[in-house]
Amino acid sequence: MNKHQLVVIGAGPGGYVAAIRAAQLGLDVACIEKEPALGGTCLRVGCIPSKALLEASEKIQAARANHLIGLKIGQAELDLAALMAHKDKVVKANTSGIEFLFKKNKVKRYLGHGRIVGPTRVVVEGPEGTQELEAERILIATGSKVAPLKGVVLDYEIVGTSDQAIAYPKVPESLVVIGGGVIGLELGSVWSRLGSKVTVLEYLPTILGGMDGEIAKAAEKVFRKQGLDIRTGVRVTAAYAKEGRGIVEYEGGEPLVAERVLLATGRVPNTDGLGLENVGLQTDERGRIPVNAHYQTAVPSIYAIGDVIAGPMLAHKAEEEGYAAVEYMVSGYGHVDYNAIPSVVYTHPEIASVGKTEEELKSLGIPYKKGSFPFSANGRARAMNETEGFAKILAHAETDRILGVHIIGPRAGDLIAEAAVAIAFHASAEDLARASHAHPTLAEVLKEAALAAWDRPIHI
Ligand code: FAD
Ligand code: NAD
Repeated sequence: MNKHQLVVIGAGPGGYVAAIRAAQLGLDVACIEKEPALGGTCLRVGCIPSKALLEASEKIQAARANHLIGLKIGQAELDLAALMAHKDKVVKANTSGIEFLFKKNKVKRYLGHGRIVGPTRVVVEGPEGTQELEAERILIATGSKVAPLKGVVLDYEIVGTSDQAIAYPKVPESLVVIGGGVIGLELGSVWSRLGSKVTVLEYLPTILGGMDGEIAKAAEKVFRKQGLDIRTGVRVTAAYAKEGRGIVEYEGGEPLVAERVLLATGRVPNTDGLGLENVGLQTDERGRIPVNAHYQTAVPSIYAIGDVIAGPMLAHKAEEEGYAAVEYMVSGYGHVDYNAIPSVVYTHPEIASVGKTEEELKSLGIPYKKGSFPFSANGRARAMNETEGFAKILAHAETDRILGVHIIGPRAGDLIAEAAVAIAFHASAEDLARASHAHPTLAEVLKEAALAAWDRPIHI
């Protein structure tokens, strides 16, 4: 029987980062992954392929609509096969990159399904048969899977999930997306840009529930202008394939018929066949594995991180937890600042936020002041012809400490990094406002929003 100090189950961003960090810290580490490619949902079928499609489809749309500055081109033609080949190449580069990092850091990889059979025992069932491993510690990083929706019958072709929507073989003439959350809007945008008529059905009164209300409202307006048919307050009750078409039924209206249907109403923790019952571990009411502040489950030798535990289902959140969990194991100290974890929607324009929303501050009774600045008043945004959107900074009314930053605008996903660092370092709006920002950059929008929150902006 092979013995390891740490056995990680799952090689997504949580698991592979934990495995590499543990190896860096001197542990003998193994990682069990059931898929041949490493990298998990994020690298194989999530973050990476969807961003490859988002980046490319944005350029394709600009070229087709002749929206390129100073350049007129003739009839532009979509080459979907080449676009998909680009996506596959990007995925391969990333997943094989993890293979390289495992080798470099001497992380032993096992291909197969991992099942816990005791507090320090895991069985791997893979193409090479079944083997049992002995581990001083086990780290569960098995991620999440698509949440089923009552009445929705997936055939994984006409009615499918994001796994299908990152790889449609042709541009569907019509696409109904169930759920106006992150996946629905990102992948809905991709196919809309490529020529589909996209309808998004969202149960709540607004899309992107949980986001800052002002930003979500602005986003809805922009997406509608882009041609997404967003219908809010619509509860889908059934969806199925019939005679080669997708049918979507919802409360209070005639069913919709489309070439493809994408179910994007959330994900749930994945503990399928993990053997939790063998060690008496129970999940909570939402299927998540409960852990303490050190990511330790009720069985002291078993830890869990990432999508399979509570918190936002984000790759970088899983990574931070993976890093911190093994540092706790080795040194007794690790840290994740959950208040400083940004979240980004990679639409066009991008939407990004970190810290508290206005709605949260109001409900917590925290006094705050607000500074906003529009991209339309930023020189770089004008030069890029990307003037839609604004940044808003929420700071404590008395201490000036930055409590939340919300951006809708060009490259918001990159700009939010500065805000996350500011929040992590407990910066005030004045700190950010007084820090020199290179000119002309989009980042100056943040400086001006900070000036607006602390005192007053210069450029508006
Ligand atoms: P996962 O990445 O899900 O990895 C878990 C791994 O465990 C998988 O590889 C699985 O095969 C393996 N596994 C499961 N059970 C077993 C077992 N018993 N034995 C062996 N192996 C097992 N997040 C972002 O932050 N940014 C984005 O842009 C983004 N885009 C996304 C786009 C889409 C379409 C989707 C679906 C998700 C996206 N996410 C994004 C979310 C992100 O993918 C997840 O939050 C992240 O992958 C979670 O990491 P994880 O390590 O916890 O789990
Ligand atoms: P989500 O939770 O973001 O959105 C699901 C939406 O579906 C919600 O707005 C919900 O109100 C709606 N809904 C639920 N039931 C419905 C019904 N019956 N009819 C109509 N609408 C209904 O979930 P998602 O978009 O599937 O994404 C899953 C996870 O993946 C998220 O937790 C997200 O964090 C992660 N993800 C992140 C990124 C990113 O960081 N850019 C990208 C994609 C996915």
